[in-house]
Amino acid sequence: MRTTQFHIVTRKETPQDAEIVSHQLMIRAGLIRKLGAGLYSWTPLGFRVLQKVESIIREEMNKSGGLEMLMPAVQPKDLWEETGRINDFGGQLLAIHDRAERDYFFGPTHEEVITDFVRNEINSYKQLPITFYQIQTKFRDEIRPRFGVMRSREFIMKDAYSFHLSKESLVETYEKMRQAYDNIINRIGLKFRCVLADSGAIGGSGSQEFHVIADSGEDAIMYSDSGEYAANIEKCAAVSLIGERQAPSMDLQKVETPSQKTIEEVVSHLDVEKVQTIKTLLVAGVDGPVALVVRGDHQLNEVKANNLIEVASPFRMLDDEEIKTVAGCDAGFIGIKSLAAHIIVDQTVANMSDFICGACENGFHYIGVNWERDAQFHQIADLRDAQVGDPSPDGQGTLQMARGIEVGHIFQLGNKYSKAMNAVVLNEKGQSQAMEMGCYGMGVSRMVAAAIEQSHDEKGIIWPEAIAPFQVVLLPMNYHKSERVKAVTHDLYQSLIGQGVEVILDDRKVRPGFMMSDFELLGIPHQIIIGDRALDRNVFEYRQRKDMQNQDIACDKMLTFITEHICA
Ligand code: ATP
Ligand code: MG
Repeated sequence: MRTTQFHIVTRKETPQDAEIVSHQLMIRAGLIRKLGAGLYSWTPLGFRVLQKVESIIREEMNKSGGLEMLMPAVQPKDLWEETGRINDFGGQLLAIHDRAERDYFFGPTHEEVITDFVRNEINSYKQLPITFYQIQTKFRDEIRPRFGVMRSREFIMKDAYSFHLSKESLVETYEKMRQAYDNIINRIGLKFRCVLADSGAIGGSGSQEFHVIADSGEDAIMYSDSGEYAANIEKCAAVSLIGERQAPSMDLQKVETPSQKTIEEVVSHLDVEKVQTIKTLLVAGVDGPVALVVRGDHQLNEVKANNLIEVASPFRMLDDEEIKTVAGCDAGFIGIKSLAAHIIVDQTVANMSDFICGACENGFHYIGVNWERDAQFHQIADLRDAQVGDPSPDGQGTLQMARGIEVGHIFQLGNKYSKAMNAVVLNEKGQSQAMEMGCYGMGVSRMVAAAIEQSHDEKGIIWPEAIAPFQVVLLPMNYHKSERVKAVTHDLYQSLIGQGVEVILDDRKVRPGFMMSDFELLGIPHQIIIGDRALDRNVFEYRQRKDMQNQDIACDKMLTFITEHICA
């Protein structure tokens, strides 16, 4: 490809609304263009990358036995009524209707559609197990679309669904998919981690996420420094940090904290440590208010809280007025002594003694509070975020944290959808049985952004070889003035094409400096500079984008050198 026959439009300025590097670089390099909030066009250059990611995914899915198909993006609302998921997805669903006022959603995911397909298509255990997948545009009306294609509203997902007679068969395919995901991200060339995950609105029993490691990642991943354990912080089990509750050693005492509302203010006023305090958060419950209690230095984990059956879904903190009605005070002074709420305490809190909490009266806290003697709780649960330094929940080592970008999520759904939608088969005994199901999502467009997030420098993108839009760029100096440069460049260009190398030749009439910085920004892995002075010495200058170290390569060795250096 020649740049003059292609479409390369780069920008010097960093776009103002782009907060993270990948978004900035994708706009500056001209890979994507914004149409509206969370809506992007992929330019011919960007689309080449997207297609490479797609091909790798497709090859690995096919290798693992998946069958590619294509379902409609537009889904009848009735299907969603069968599974009762409209509420779970809430505002993310883009509702549309046709001229006959029939209701549809633009698909955010396809569990309902595939289950409908399968209940009509499969009726015997002999047709199982089977895995279908598609690569397709999804729409989710994200509350805050941001970071370009990292969290857009319209995006491309690979979604796969497997169907089984037994749980064992589901687990077997799930493991195969996990391996396929490993292979895909390894082939793309990114550092990643597979972690335990919360199943969220998709539901089911077990699930794991695949995270590309990057400092800008939206997710916190907790992992053991010496064992196998790794989990999204949403899911990571937080153990009790106090082995056994000590007997009370203090009397209960009410103390004045006239203007101290935050934990920080209270501990500095009373000259104590945060670990001696608790915080009580009032949230909406299914049956009246629920108090969630964590230690003062800990953070409430909303995902864990939301998963408790006593807590109303969607998760909602009580507002100031409701707090006043329930606790009789402002938010900063809520305590657990005679609080009219269902009190659920974190495991660490359950083992605390002689602690400090609000007095449910503005301007006062209690010190020397002890369970049983002074207050009661109704329930113990894991309510907090695990934190760095906690013992790993599997007993192996200590937890560390890394930031990750979720590029994939795999689920063992069980029979949640097949039961709701009556997707049954006849088993060996001729009895009707709901199918077991797994689902496996991967963000194709997000993967491109994640790759850039992990692989760039101050000059621009450094494409992993497997997904670079072109493998080699030819940068001729004085192409339009020197006949020799033009002829040699043309020869090399043709021979590279002959070898099946994806090469782009910059034949624009631009200054060398401009050309160089454009291709640093574009991140093509192998760069060959062709100039008269080097040709006098019978060499080309060669460098790799990742280290930009120039190296002379004899003209007649260049072709072999390149074919040996690019990944097949
Ligand atoms: P997130 O927590 O980031 O919102 P999710 O849990 O909603 O993701 P899934 O429903 O598991 O995501 O979707 C499968 C994959 O699709 C995700 O792993 C992610 O890579 C991708 N994806 C999800 N939402 C978006 C989005 N708004 N923009 C781009 N990719 C997305
Ligand atoms: Mg989401």
